[in-house]
Amino acid sequence: MSVSTVSNEIVTTIQSWLPSAVSLLTVNTLSAVFVARSAVARNRSWFTYFWFSLIATSLVMGVIVAALPVSEEYLPGRRQCPKCAEYVRREATLCRHCHSKLTALPALKRSGVSALNPVWTLGAFTTGIGVVVEVLALAKVIETWWLGLALIIAGAYMLFRTPRNS
Ligand SMILES: [Zn+2]
Repeated sequence: MSVSTVSNEIVTTIQSWLPSAVSLLTVNTLSAVFVARSAVARNRSWFTYFWFSLIATSLVMGVIVAALPVSEEYLPGRRQCPKCAEYVRREATLCRHCHSKLTALPALKRSGVSALNPVWTLGAFTTGIGVVVEVLALAKVIETWWLGLALIIAGAYMLFRTPRNS
């Protein structure tokens, strides 16, 4: 188990997540700008509609991501079985697909944050935004209390449906 193998695995994990995260955020931001521009054309607040749209599209995408099954291939701490090419845990000494004997590899050392399941993190983030929206609604800064409630429900759903650690 060389250092370069470990760093390759870390780079591969980042590479598998980063493009989808960046492209989703880009699509969300561009659509929010579009919605906000059309809101201004109808004498509505750019600021309110930009954030409303950004949060709403992120929420919908978060629910879709949470509902998708995650392929073993993209889970950290996995490797391919040399016999059947299925994905198994690095520490496994027996393939759970073809029952071949394997040489155990040491588990990847991960920090607390990187060990968190991305969907769980998204759920926590969504719940947090929901609480902020509710506080703003109670303080009468905004009127959309139902948006905060929807965000809290969706975030809590993701939190309880997904294990905290991947
Ligand atoms: Zn196998």
